Amino acid sequence: MTLSPLIERFIRYARIETTSSDTTGTSPSTACQHDLARLLAQELRDMGASDVLYDDVHCYVYAQIPGEGQPLGFIAHMDTSPAASGRNVSPRILPAYDGTDALLRPEDFPELRSHFGEDLIASDGTTLLGADDKAGVAEIMEMARYYLEHPEVPHRALSICFTPDEEVGQGTDHFDPDAFRAREAYTVDGGKLGVFEYECFNAAAAEVSVQGRSVHPGSAKGLMKNAATLAMEFDRLLPAAERPEYTEGREGFFMLTEIRGETDTAHLSYIVRDHDRDRFEARKETLRRVANYMNEEHGEGTISLTITDSYRNMAEYMRDHMDLVDKAFEAARAIGVTPSCEPVRGGTDGARLAEVYGIPCPNLCTGGYNFHGRYEYASIQEMEKSLQILLHIAQAC
Ligand SMILES: [Zn+2]
Repeated sequence: MTLSPLIERFIRYARIETTSSDTTGTSPSTACQHDLARLLAQELRDMGASDVLYDDVHCYVYAQIPGEGQPLGFIAHMDTSPAASGRNVSPRILPAYDGTDALLRPEDFPELRSHFGEDLIASDGTTLLGADDKAGVAEIMEMARYYLEHPEVPHRALSICFTPDEEVGQGTDHFDPDAFRAREAYTVDGGKLGVFEYECFNAAAAEVSVQGRSVHPGSAKGLMKNAATLAMEFDRLLPAAERPEYTEGREGFFMLTEIRGETDTAHLSYIVRDHDRDRFEARKETLRRVANYMNEEHGEGTISLTITDSYRNMAEYMRDHMDLVDKAFEAARAIGVTPSCEPVRGGTDGARLAEVYGIPCPNLCTGGYNFHGRYEYASIQEMEKSLQILLHIAQAC
């Protein structure tokens, strides 16, 4: 099967290990991400992009494509999730997929039925594929190449940025808005063709410390306060059905992410999520009320609660910039794809860029699926159409 330049490019990038890490504490979190960053910077220079800037300390790549008007930004992340191995990725092409692959079985992933007849790309089953987000990286690179080779086709000035460490929540830590230049942008880090995203969770983290009273069990009556038991009580007082495993769509949740403790002290960590701002505030209030109730029941100072906001729903920043979403919808319709918007049940780098730098940043589709694991795959036809959507968006002045 002859591969298009986009797919060849994607496979080349997928083979380069760029797994990020949430334990090293460095920036970038892993040195291997530089291998892809260096290559992308060189390829952008070879294509003739302007002002290619490779931040070789923090591993960001910026480039400009000359065109009309204020620059429109496109962002993708170079790292892959530490949740699965990204070493020696060996992409497999499944031409005219018919459901018979041993790894990608429609019984396990019903979505695959909608891809019968398409050409898919999968890993060999020992690693993730890395379509998240090298599909986005490859699509942006092909868009850049197209407009550099066709300056006669009218298009916006384009600003490109490739970031490290998105998967470990540090993708924008050393982002340089001056090097980026664009004041409105898209992340190209979504999945299914035609699905765009501009709503994400409001997010907070809650840390609960439980102070018990440790007494010899033989003489503990009326004296012992078992911190580990009280920690379990705290968790039981939260709404049982409002956990990630029972919620979907725009439903928020409390999630216990860590528990440790003994008689003397115990500690609980939660994340709190809700798309709706008022319901988000109400969730934080619920945590405070549980803490207050337990302090009344078991004595002041039993529970100490710290709540820290993590990020905000990007929709709040998008209100005055819905033309970006309209443009994506128009671009999809122009190539015969029915567009839709779905709320992200997570955060995005775009949410941070909107909050910190005031850069509204909806998320575009890439054609990749089943991110962060061995069953990740991409549809070649959907990747090609995602590229067409980028080209149309860049064209619309
Ligand atoms: Zn991603």
